[in-house]
Amino acid sequence: MRVVVVGGGMAGLVLARALMKRGITPVVLERAPAGRFTEGPIMLPFQAYEALEDLGLYETIRAAGRDVAVGEDGRPVAIAVARQTLIDHIAEGVPVEHEEEVLDLLRDGDRVVGVRTRGPGGERDVPADLVVGADGTMSGVRELAGIPHITRPSEGGGLSFTSPVVMPSSFVMAYQSDGRQVGVMSWPGGSAGWWQIDRIGPEAALAPGLEAFKRSFIRLLPPAELALQGVTSMDQVRYREVTEVVSERWWNPGVMLIGEAAHAMDPESGVGAGLGFGDALQLATSIAANPGDPDEACRHHEHWRRPVVDPYVSVGAQGARIPQAPPGAQRPPWEYWPPREG
Ligand SMILES: Cc1cc2nc3c(=O)[nH]c(=O)nc-3n(C[C@H](O)[C@H](O)[C@H](O)COP(=O)(O)OP(=O)(O)OC[C@H]3O[C@@H](n4cnc5c(N)ncnc54)[C@H](O)[C@@H]3O)c2cc1C
Repeated sequence: MRVVVVGGGMAGLVLARALMKRGITPVVLERAPAGRFTEGPIMLPFQAYEALEDLGLYETIRAAGRDVAVGEDGRPVAIAVARQTLIDHIAEGVPVEHEEEVLDLLRDGDRVVGVRTRGPGGERDVPADLVVGADGTMSGVRELAGIPHITRPSEGGGLSFTSPVVMPSSFVMAYQSDGRQVGVMSWPGGSAGWWQIDRIGPEAALAPGLEAFKRSFIRLLPPAELALQGVTSMDQVRYREVTEVVSERWWNPGVMLIGEAAHAMDPESGVGAGLGFGDALQLATSIAANPGDPDEACRHHEHWRRPVVDPYVSVGAQGARIPQAPPGAQRPPWEYWPPREG
């Protein structure tokens, strides 16, 4: 089967590598230039492990990162690792065509039969039996394919920081009165904190400044003080609002969505990449099981994958919250940002 993967992010790379293992080398088109550096860490959750094992990378990634909460089976709940390290390992041996931006889908009647891409050599058509949109939250493939979906702003906003300080523990977290999280993860290259706040926009979120941010963060999570000693500039502090995606279905004849193109959640849920890895492995398995029939491969994929993904999508970020106070209780002033106390 001729497979074109649009997007060389994590989901697209895992799919490409898993297909290659099964004897199918896809065309991977990525609009970013080669050598793009993706900063910061990721807490890769257990939902990604099956795909990592399939690629023979579970131990490698574990060795490159830090375990978070090892269970009785000796496996961590997640691995805290630099994003770029993870991407570099997955991308090994995967032929990615960089600076190729997919502009349109080619059609034969209702069926998608390829893509039009623009790259260093100009515009060209790439025929395919199956086009896979692994092109992220704002997926152009999803739009072009006419796959019904909802995009919506996430309910809250997120303040985060990165620090060069490596913490003694790979993970500390607390829940606020309404259940939202404040936490710090630490990987071999440093540490990163997050604080789920109201959606207030970047200007208001960053206006109180560094000392107020550090004070408020430490008030909520005292062990964060060590990591915050390495935060010396507001350039290390970010405010993010994200878009969530819920797709009614994931495929049309000749085209399939995986990863955040198919379903995107607030990072508070902590499973986004994990689900993308799982999508990629399932699709590779479904294609390998139906090498001459892309529609049957898509049906197979959605049949097995929906029951895994939908529970996460239906609870969204709420599913990651544990309220510390009864519903409707007044939040303490130190949980507000911008701060309400001196
Ligand atoms: C702040 C934050 C923290 C997070 N933390 C975690 C975490 O700790 N654990 C976790 O599991 N998940 C986490 N996530 C989610 C995780 O980052 C995503 O699920 C994952 O990166 C999405 O991968 P993807 O491959 O689906 O999409 P993307 O990474 O967005 O990749 C899409 C790729 O497609 C390319 N592309 C787009 N359009 C085109 C086009 N037309 N032509 C060619 N190429 C195109 C883009 O350049 C990009 O490389 C977090 C997300 C955020 C925002």
